[in-house]
Amino acid sequence: MESIVISVVAPMYNESGNIDAFFSRLRPVLDRITDQYEIVCINDGSTDDTLERLLAYQADDPRVLVLDLSRNFGKEAALSAGLDHARGQAVVPIDADLQDPPELIQDFVARWREGYEVVYATRRSRQGENLVKLTSAGLFYRFINRMSAIRIPEDTGDFRLMDRRVVEVLKRMPERTRFMKGLFAWVGFKQAAVEFDRDPRLRGRSKWRLLGLWRFAIDGITSFSSFPLKIWSYMGAVIALLSFSYMAFLILRHLATGVDVPGYSSLISTILFLGGIQLIGIGILGEYLGRVFDEVKRRPLYVVRWIYGQYEPPSR
Ligand code: UDP
Ligand code: MG
Repeated sequence: MESIVISVVAPMYNESGNIDAFFSRLRPVLDRITDQYEIVCINDGSTDDTLERLLAYQADDPRVLVLDLSRNFGKEAALSAGLDHARGQAVVPIDADLQDPPELIQDFVARWREGYEVVYATRRSRQGENLVKLTSAGLFYRFINRMSAIRIPEDTGDFRLMDRRVVEVLKRMPERTRFMKGLFAWVGFKQAAVEFDRDPRLRGRSKWRLLGLWRFAIDGITSFSSFPLKIWSYMGAVIALLSFSYMAFLILRHLATGVDVPGYSSLISTILFLGGIQLIGIGILGEYLGRVFDEVKRRPLYVVRWIYGQYEPPSR
């Protein structure tokens, strides 16, 4: 069992239409590398027949392991489930929609055999993605790399090869908020990049909605930087300094020219401005506090209903 060389880990959520193409492209690539591989598929609470199709492949080939989660937990949790159950010496997370070309695994393995512990794919181009997603992604990486101490490589997804040692470190990371790209960068080790062109998704549509991407971005920033928390003391200091100077100015003017009643507009705009600034500050505290709350609850990241290929199928 322990002789598995490569585990491919594929989270799947309603990927029924892509499964055949996925297996038929992935298997020849793996066959060329070794016959000691396993394909770990995670059914992340799909509502279509993804699970049935996976089980058909599993029945034919004991090297296919199917993890059935109890509901949809999201890609990051599904991926963690796969990493926890993968047994190979090298582990390769991959998207099931064939946006990550399986052929690249050969290059990964070549670099891995040269001694690199992490080999990640960087996109040269992103086809089939709209301008909004492209520019927002660009801005996001610029922003997060400015703000946090570790460097998250831009144009890099989850598609990569990780040595067993790296996977063991990832498995020990206790946090609930799984910002995988950040965690991957945090572990360190000898890393190498392989360039590729990201293809458009084969069938179906991306599961990301704009709101989801926004949450994802906030997760990334709050998991890897406390800068947004810390700027408030400086912001407060600057505003207080300005206020004191203005106060001094007002007192002096009062002494010089006497009572000056009109001032409604300056008063109301100051109040509104400060109110807004304070609310933003409280909101940012809330973002972090909510995450602290999630972490201290220590709930499991995912719930596995059954692992097909490891246990006999359930019978009743
Ligand atoms: N995925 C998942 N659970 C989810 C959403 C997505 O397991 O809740 C899987 C999906 O089946 C695919 C991969 O994650 O294999 C990437 O998803 P998608 O193609 O929707 O993301 P994108 O490529 O647009 O970033
Ligand atoms: Mg995709």
